[in-house]
Amino acid sequence: MNVFINAEVYNDLISYSLRRLPEEACGFILGGQDSGNGELQTSTFIPLRNIASNPWNRFEISPVEMLPYLMDSNHPVIGLFHSHPTAPPLPSEQDLQTLWHSIPTYWILSLQQPQRPELQLYQIKKAPQTAYHKLAFVIGQ
Ligand SMILES: [Zn+2]
Repeated sequence: MNVFINAEVYNDLISYSLRRLPEEACGFILGGQDSGNGELQTSTFIPLRNIASNPWNRFEISPVEMLPYLMDSNHPVIGLFHSHPTAPPLPSEQDLQTLWHSIPTYWILSLQQPQRPELQLYQIKKAPQTAYHKLAFVIGQ
């Protein structure tokens, strides 16, 4: 599965994550799937509040804030995004335990080097064992 990220979504999630430093930023990626080649395509980045008690290295989203997006079948949630202010763009143990398996992709932006944000996308499967692999993506116009 490939993901096409439009430039607006990419710029939005980077600028939002930089503004949220030193805390982890989080949000949803809305979009759809191309019925021909199966490629996921982004339309909008939705910032969501990080309500974790230690937002510097955790993120937690209020179900009340999430639910309206998850129930809107006209604008499907195709990605769960969060940033790592000081860690590489790899899922942490905590990340792997708190997944939303109804969401097909998992996005992590590392701001270890704020001048050079590093984005990685993953597909994560829980059963029978937790496993994840990187997804290919393209940043377009
Ligand atoms: Zn994380």
